[in-house]
Amino acid sequence: MESTLTARDRVGVQDFVLLENYTSEAAFIENLRRRFGENLIYTYIGSVLVSVNPNKNLEIYSKAHMERYRGVSFYEISPHIYAVSDNTYRAMRTERRDHCILISGESGAGKTEASKKILQYYATTCPVTDNMSTLRDRLLQSNPVLEAFGNAKTLRNDNSSRFGKYMDVQFDFRGAPIGGHILNYLLEKSRVVHQNHGERNFHIFYQLLEGGEQDLLSKLGLERNAQKYQYLVKGCCPRVSSINDKNDWKTVRKALTVIGFHEDEVEDLLNIIASVLHLGNTQFGEGENGENQITTEPQLKYVSKVGTMNEQYPPPPNTHTTHTHYKVLDTRKLPSATKHGFEQFCINYCNEKLQQLFIELTLKSEQEEYEAEGITWELVKYFDNKIICDLVEEKHKGLISILDEECLRPGEPSDISFLEKLEDTLGGHAHFVTHKLANGKTRKVVSREEFKLIHYAGEVNYSVNGFLDKNNDLLYRNLKEVICQSDSQVLSQCFHREEVTDQKRPETAATQFKNSLAKLIEILRSKEPSYVRCIKPNDAKQSGRFDEALVRHQVKYLGLMENLRVRRAGFAYRRHYETFLQRYKSLCPGTWPNWQGRLADGVATLVQHLGYHPEEYKLGKTKIFIRFPKTLFSTEDALEAR
Ligand code: ADP
Ligand code: MG
Repeated sequence: MESTLTARDRVGVQDFVLLENYTSEAAFIENLRRRFGENLIYTYIGSVLVSVNPNKNLEIYSKAHMERYRGVSFYEISPHIYAVSDNTYRAMRTERRDHCILISGESGAGKTEASKKILQYYATTCPVTDNMSTLRDRLLQSNPVLEAFGNAKTLRNDNSSRFGKYMDVQFDFRGAPIGGHILNYLLEKSRVVHQNHGERNFHIFYQLLEGGEQDLLSKLGLERNAQKYQYLVKGCCPRVSSINDKNDWKTVRKALTVIGFHEDEVEDLLNIIASVLHLGNTQFGEGENGENQITTEPQLKYVSKVGTMNEQYPPPPNTHTTHTHYKVLDTRKLPSATKHGFEQFCINYCNEKLQQLFIELTLKSEQEEYEAEGITWELVKYFDNKIICDLVEEKHKGLISILDEECLRPGEPSDISFLEKLEDTLGGHAHFVTHKLANGKTRKVVSREEFKLIHYAGEVNYSVNGFLDKNNDLLYRNLKEVICQSDSQVLSQCFHREEVTDQKRPETAATQFKNSLAKLIEILRSKEPSYVRCIKPNDAKQSGRFDEALVRHQVKYLGLMENLRVRRAGFAYRRHYETFLQRYKSLCPGTWPNWQGRLADGVATLVQHLGYHPEEYKLGKTKIFIRFPKTLFSTEDALEAR
């Protein structure tokens, strides 16, 4: 076991609340940089874990490391994703409350890796029940499948998740995992038909072509050559050095079986994948009477075998649930000041909502702890981004309502008429900007088909091009009916019955997103949250490179300084009496070698002997609260000097 650590790690501070100059962004980034230079990629802000992607394998994830973090509290050992996993697990068991871990950060920052490490930790350290090994395998094996269908190579990340992921692990009363459930939302569907230069389609297409047995490919009418398929050539990079599609195919194929897909379901699934590729090669031409006609017969044959593709598949069958759950959420990036469209608008709205929840819950838990300890709570000023959430989601007046109205309006609604409506309704709002100024003049920072939103994390320009089409982007009901009646098990399960029989107009894409986000927030609000904030140190996927400007940007949009301010508003440091006494009792003859009386009295004796001033600390019911880091550091120094 490595020596115990408290206030200071070997490099910098291991908890930002101990930064002397805690309002300084420069000091914050310098602390991150120094630690990163020593491969100390994890640092806390109180109970929030900040993680900087090392882009290389570190020797800190072995089974021995997992063991080291079991049952050990945060401050006794260097910060780690395992500490968060373990503390959450133990809190869940003792408090018998649902917990969740929220993982956020931009693309390539390490969210997916973090969630995998949490799962591995549980798979390795949790008690085992009879049918556990099947379940454990299913949990772990769901990842390669999700990644095959939902991840792609992008410029930022060779294995970028193109969807939000919500994973739910259920534990029984003994603390053994007994079930799981995964919810995906906002898959980037447009990637199926189009990829930007240097990017790929979803991994599964390449895996199937590279790794599928010859028999299988023949049956599906496919050739082993990605170049032949229109949907795979747009980005001009069928191969990626860091990816082995052939091997990944084997993993995915095996995983499908482990998580419970039957042979015929796998066949259905691959038929769908193949038909997408054929569909991409289908060409339309003019028939004898001028009608549109498909001119590529062989493709049509394979496509019409199964129908269309919905990039969903049934969740792995889940065993039954107990009251104690555990959640991992994987959210997507907030991009910087470039032009963005409808999808980015949805993602950024999601981030805005999660930030709101984050600040609210952080404040709440601070306040609750003070109250529980009988210490007066001092009001903290902070930026409430509710105003931006309202701008987007408010009934009748919000951006989504206006968009929906415009989509429904008879006549000829267009993206530009939508923008005009926005200007009429939202012009003058402090967080909404277009090229029009109130005095009739125009401004150049926003072009004529754009609007700018001032998010809590910064300004983003959105081009309105495609907003109406994408918001209307729903499958027609009769198409859904056909899919539901398909012989293919996988296809027939794509939609809920009610969705097909319901005669109401289906909800628009933005409203669907808004509603599912509201449900998600509701779920998260009912749980005890822990947070992992992931930071990407450079855009080149290189190890050892720390690009300060890029990191500063992320520190800002992850709201880390705000988080630290809230956390430091009162006291920098708090410990249970027992822990505090245990560590420092040797500094006072009155408490050494063993204090026999009440713990609170022991701590009082100790700090009096150390000469703490009354304004430097407060004694709560079970904990000591120390206001300034320097008080603690001098005590640490005294300990080291002995
Ligand atoms: P995100 O899900 O945030 O987009 P990923 O988790 O996919 O990002 O991480 C991108 C890449 O960065 C991974 O494929 C891996 O190579 C590297 N990476 C991320 N976290 C770690 C880590 N803790 N240790 C080593 N490499 C990592
Ligand atoms: Mg990811």
